[in-house]
Amino acid sequence: MIHASAGDRLYPLKEPLRNALLEAGIPYNPCANGGDPLGFAALSENWKDGRRQPASKAYDLSKANVFTNSTVRRILIDASSKIATGIELLDGRAFQATKEVLCCCGAIKTPQLLMLSGIGPAKHLAVQGLVTVEDLPVGENLHDHLSATLYFKLKRPEQGLAIGSALFGENAPDFKKGNPISWIATLSIPDVSQATLAKAIPNNDSLISKSRRHVEFLISYAPIAAPAFFEHSLAGTHISTPILGLLPSSRGSVTLSSTDVNADPIINPNYFDCELDREAMRTGVRAVLHTMLDTTEGKTMIEEETPPPGQVSAPLMLYVRLAFKSLCFGNSEFKVSCTNTACESAAIIK
Ligand SMILES: Cc1cc2nc3c(=O)[nH]c(=O)nc-3n(C[C@H](O)[C@H](O)[C@H](O)COP(=O)(O)OP(=O)(O)OC[C@H]3O[C@@H](n4cnc5c(N)ncnc54)[C@H](O)[C@@H]3O)c2cc1C
Repeated sequence: MIHASAGDRLYPLKEPLRNALLEAGIPYNPCANGGDPLGFAALSENWKDGRRQPASKAYDLSKANVFTNSTVRRILIDASSKIATGIELLDGRAFQATKEVLCCCGAIKTPQLLMLSGIGPAKHLAVQGLVTVEDLPVGENLHDHLSATLYFKLKRPEQGLAIGSALFGENAPDFKKGNPISWIATLSIPDVSQATLAKAIPNNDSLISKSRRHVEFLISYAPIAAPAFFEHSLAGTHISTPILGLLPSSRGSVTLSSTDVNADPIINPNYFDCELDREAMRTGVRAVLHTMLDTTEGKTMIEEETPPPGQVSAPLMLYVRLAFKSLCFGNSEFKVSCTNTACESAAIIK
């Protein structure tokens, strides 16, 4: 069974941050997993006995044969019935399915393997010299919820408030279990933005609706998730707030770079193509800055926000662009190239 629980670790900033969030007008949600996550809530995680609990640890695999280092080159498909009958590995071994073939290679490699197996846009497959089994828009609906992280310098780091300080968790071994995070806040874009957006994006009504939650932020007692050009040392002096878009409406693509299954496909995430995504990020950034810099507890806690070098007075959207990275691609070896220029000329709103 998968365990999802919120730790009750009493980090020194937990209660001050609760007060700051409340003062900033974000309501406390005692049960964010109960159907509506709006508000701020204790961060719950999949972990058991202080260890992250991936599905492979939670479920019994004793009856499954697991082949490691076994890259699938293509799915075998019967040409006349168009039914998947098995798989072929890079080393030439083939396996016939007794019932069905499940293709679950992740968001990037799944469309790649489908295309290499002849399932994809016929024109694109032809360019790669592949025979089309089924002409489908595989790889044309990529959406990624990206994140932008802000960093805050603490006024009293000598109190052991963040990871890196010798005092942080000195007498609390549970501080080293799970993420050093107490709160996660979930927000909708403001009503005024919803009205403006509804005119701009009539086809995305359901994403704009009041009951949808567009963005979330976490407050981490460590300077995490920084782009390479803007890394802080773990000295206990900074905390950070990753802000994540929850309902990305921009759509990117995955296309083949070659017929080699080991080659990275071409990934164009097309970030910020849609105004909704830009407004969601602005909403998150505004809420974070208000909580950390304008509230009584925030002012007691925070010395200053630490923007990327040279960006002290950057307009908000430019700042988001500088701070953002993909949660997925930022932690993987995939290379992405965003060819979308809309994000460069995005509406700049303070
Ligand atoms: C940094 C980060 C943090 C996250 N945090 C959370 C979280 O807190 N909570 C949450 O619910 N989700 C989280 N997620 C999302 C979650 O990890 C994914 O949704 C989930 O792993 C997707 O599972 P999957 O099985 O579909 O794909 P994957 O986990 O991507 O698995 C695909 C597998 O297929 C293999 N594969 C690919 N191509 C081939 C091939 N040709 N032949 C053989 N094998 C192949 C890959 O090696 C991989 O092992 C996070 C993701 C990231 C990147």
